Amino acid sequence: MNKVADSNRPHIAVVGRRNVGKSSLVNALLGQDLSIVSEVAGTTTDPVKKALELLPYGPVVLVDTAGIDDEGELGRQRISKTIKILSSSDFALVVVDARETLQSKELELFAYLDKLQINYIVAVNKIEFGVNPELLDELKELRIVHFEVSCKEKAGIDELKRKMIRLLPSDNEPPLVSDIVSQGDVIVLVVPIDLGAPKGRLIMPQVQTIREALDEDTIVVVCKDKELRSTLDNLKNYPDLVITDSQAIMRVAADVPEKVKLTTFSILMARHKGELPIFVRGLRRVEELQNGDKVLVAEACSHHAQEDDIGTVKIPRWLRNHTKKDLLIDVIHGHDFPDNLSDYRLIVHCGGCMLTRRAMQTRINEAKLMDVPIVNYGVLISYMHGAIPRALLPFEEAIAEWEKVKGK
Ligand code: SF4
Repeated sequence: MNKVADSNRPHIAVVGRRNVGKSSLVNALLGQDLSIVSEVAGTTTDPVKKALELLPYGPVVLVDTAGIDDEGELGRQRISKTIKILSSSDFALVVVDARETLQSKELELFAYLDKLQINYIVAVNKIEFGVNPELLDELKELRIVHFEVSCKEKAGIDELKRKMIRLLPSDNEPPLVSDIVSQGDVIVLVVPIDLGAPKGRLIMPQVQTIREALDEDTIVVVCKDKELRSTLDNLKNYPDLVITDSQAIMRVAADVPEKVKLTTFSILMARHKGELPIFVRGLRRVEELQNGDKVLVAEACSHHAQEDDIGTVKIPRWLRNHTKKDLLIDVIHGHDFPDNLSDYRLIVHCGGCMLTRRAMQTRINEAKLMDVPIVNYGVLISYMHGAIPRALLPFEEAIAEWEKVKGK
């Protein structure tokens, strides 16, 4: 089986009220009995992710969630987790009990999915106990695609899978590099191995870039920033493209001749997961920041902070030095993005390599709705180090946006 990072697999949320058989459906789709399945309502308390090879579509992640009708304070917290999961999902399977009619919670759920423009199918489960014709009439009236299944008797599961495959979004992630390189190009990747680098491995954006570049039949040379000059000296011709870690951009820019295309892994990720022109537009706000303004630095995963950590130490320091303003900077880690962004004047987001594109888009949309400009690490670091527009040159749309920012 192909090893695909979870953050690159489409996420399918399995949602519904308690005890309608969400975990049973996950198990039936997986063809196994791993989740705890019980007749006691509310067995799944936190979202549980399971990888599934949905042939011939490809790898996906199923996310088993807590019931949308959970009760009490803890129940409310679980529902809010389910809502978060939904907002970053690519598709939803809504499970209902075949013996009942649609409840208000389900109608609210359909409205929410419609608002988020997430495709979904209703799985009418437990048909072994009979099907309420009123339920089918309601679903038909609402023109909701539905499928009758029995997870217990494994009936209708293959048909449901086939239907899901037809409705799942196609792979529309912009490439990392494949559209800016050609067969036979020589690409130099600059990968600093410092205290911040994980032990014994490269980070995901570097690995993905290498793989995508190799798929395009290019020649990939990897070196550390210290060895860049001798690497370039050892090549017969100038490389066609140099990609560097953002933090080394100034050193690397000094070593790479102007006529060679240069960008950063973080700018590649900005386009792959997010919206590069929107991040470039966000730079305008950097020059407008005033004393006392609040800035949110958001990292999409939790990792052990190093002494000179990029999110908690370097970005705040560079931003204060650049603006010469006394800024109030909040740093958050992990999958929870604040519900209320309106206090912030600027959001600085990490590359988001552990997020699905949909999750990153949701964060960008939330910022847009609250009218808060957003930039990503790579764009901001290159800007503050004077390496923009050079690092944006390979990307026409981003350069066009930069021209507007410059012209104000
Ligand atoms: S902080 Fe962001 S860019 Fe860094 S590893 Fe986590 S998700 Fe990826």
